[in-house]
Amino acid sequence: MESSGIHKGSCHCGAVEFTVNLPNGIEGPYRCNCSLCDRRGAIAAPVQMEEFKVTKGEEFLTLYQFNTQVAKHYFCAQCGIYTHHQRRSNPSQFSYNVACLEGINSQDIECVGFIDGVNHAMDQ
Ligand SMILES: [Zn+2]
Repeated sequence: MESSGIHKGSCHCGAVEFTVNLPNGIEGPYRCNCSLCDRRGAIAAPVQMEEFKVTKGEEFLTLYQFNTQVAKHYFCAQCGIYTHHQRRSNPSQFSYNVACLEGINSQDIECVGFIDGVNHAMDQ
């Protein structure tokens, strides 16, 4: 693990690049079963907003919102890959797509968390 904690990530086509500051490595990776995540199939992990920065291709990012319109889901308009989203349960956090990180093999990620997005606390 780099001592600086800064990890680079990108979408598939490379139009969008981002950095995420992970001084302790990937923390709290999770899957969610909401109607979007279930289809998307990605493992996400949360960070405080200020630790995540889009460094290239912000103009390629497309915003998708549904249901309560609180969460903001971003994906690359060119290759369709989900990069990150602003979280509904904690809008001061982003979650990023763990598989977008350079040098990370998502099969090696031990998915510690599961969010029951079907029965989201904010829908009760
Ligand atoms: Zn792309």
